[in-house]
Amino acid sequence: MQAQPLQTVVIVGGGTAGWMTATALATTLKGRVKIRLVESDEIGIIGVGEATIPMIQLFNKVVGIDENDFIRATQGTFKLGIEFVNWGRLGERYIHGFGKLGQDLWTVPFEQYWRKMRALGRAAPLEEYSITRMACKAGKFLPAQMDVPNSPLNHIAHAYHFDASLYARFLRGIAEQRGVQRIEGRIVQVSQRPVDGHVDAVVMASGERVEGELFIDCSGFRGLLIEETLRTGYENWQHWLPCDRALAVPCASAPRLLPYTRATAHRAGWQWRIPLQHRIGNGHVYCSQFVSDDEAASTLLSNLDGAPLADPRPIRFTTGMREQGWNRNVVAIGLASGFLEPLESTSIHLIQSSIQRLIDFFPDDGFNPVEIAEYNRQSRFEYERIRDFVILHYKVNQRSDSEFWKACAAMPIPDSLAHKIELYQARGRLVRIDQELFTEPSWLQVMEGQNLDCERHHPLADLPGDDSTADYLESVRQVIAKCVDVMPTHEQYIAQHCAAA
Ligand code: FAD
Repeated sequence: MQAQPLQTVVIVGGGTAGWMTATALATTLKGRVKIRLVESDEIGIIGVGEATIPMIQLFNKVVGIDENDFIRATQGTFKLGIEFVNWGRLGERYIHGFGKLGQDLWTVPFEQYWRKMRALGRAAPLEEYSITRMACKAGKFLPAQMDVPNSPLNHIAHAYHFDASLYARFLRGIAEQRGVQRIEGRIVQVSQRPVDGHVDAVVMASGERVEGELFIDCSGFRGLLIEETLRTGYENWQHWLPCDRALAVPCASAPRLLPYTRATAHRAGWQWRIPLQHRIGNGHVYCSQFVSDDEAASTLLSNLDGAPLADPRPIRFTTGMREQGWNRNVVAIGLASGFLEPLESTSIHLIQSSIQRLIDFFPDDGFNPVEIAEYNRQSRFEYERIRDFVILHYKVNQRSDSEFWKACAAMPIPDSLAHKIELYQARGRLVRIDQELFTEPSWLQVMEGQNLDCERHHPLADLPGDDSTADYLESVRQVIAKCVDVMPTHEQYIAQHCAAA
């Protein structure tokens, strides 16, 4: 236990993780501790990481960011979901839309009535009961309208696409205003206390020692403190998520700003498409065991919606998580803590939730092993639950056109995921484990979108009678269609509220 109250926090790294952490700590700790952030322009940041999920709105709220200022400063756009192309079978597509599906009524979840009526040929496709999915298809956008509580317009959940480098710069401005001290330069050595191995300083190439009691490792994949110094260990999940490389390339913007991310499955991986105001972010995530770098590059470049603005940039990664996100007096946040490929845009959320946990267990008067263990337990829970959701996309495919997809369909999966799939196949039941990130509508949309069958619907869905159920479904569908009609296009909304200069 440390005797003195904590006085200085040192954040190592100034990418998305470093500056989000600095901004959040400066805001919530209100000058109680000194916050210093070390980053190296020479090393730079990873600079991808442009798609998010709706929880980021909470981060913006806590740190007091105005949405329109933020979109303007980061050349951002709005995101209502992700379109998955070629995932179930080649040529198929579905959207995983944010927010709820259908309208709660009667006893069992909405989709049980839908499933029953679909079997009778009396229901529209599932997407027509989701306002975000239908808005994606129509290219429309509007934030949730809080003044119409019973309308689907009240249920719109949205996130953002943004330029990660501009985001780091935007947050840096806020953090520095709130007292964070930035130190530019390369760390060449990490100093540890002999007594307990705690990090007590990082040493810069200039010879300057940056001392502190709590160190946040936001140094990216290398994990300068958590791994290179403390040798914490890494749990490798490549046997479940075998993609290990990515190529990223921006291309010229398209006139239509899609309000969603697109994830197109290729022969041995998939390609993201993220629309920003000034360009489109693209990348091909692939498995090097099944496709060469040259072929991956040529697939990426032949599937762009505009002229490439640079050469494809290679990135290597190992999917998995650090054995302990918090080890001694070092907390790893961002890529230093682990990596799940960006299929469901979860990395920035993982940064946000790590910050939230750090604040919950903030060690202001010493390092308590029980609290550190609880922090690590919660981190593992969150990582594993998201991992299962991402594996689902690979496992539930019926593609026979490539060895990669056949291997994914045949691979063993974690028991926790196998259990969810079995429950769904029996009666379409969806079970959310504790407070896991992805809720039932998300699991449903991917399972149904990738053709996972269930034997029958819930028996209680038979109670209302076929005609009244059909009328109910139709009324939900029509209200959603009318709401989408009145929404502005995504381009109109941005032009009116938050176009970048
Ligand atoms: P980095 O951006 O790598 O920052 C590391 C920092 O550490 C830099 O400032 C660097 O200068 C500093 N540093 C390192 N070593 C030293 C040293 N010796 N001395 C001084 N400074 C040092 N996330 C999403 O949420 N959505 C997405 O769509 C998404 N897409 C992704 C696509 C790919 C291919 C990859 C790889 C990741 C993606 N991510 C995505 C994840 C996202 O990019 C990261 O979570 C996010 O950018 C955080 O990165 P970071 O700050 O941890 O690391």
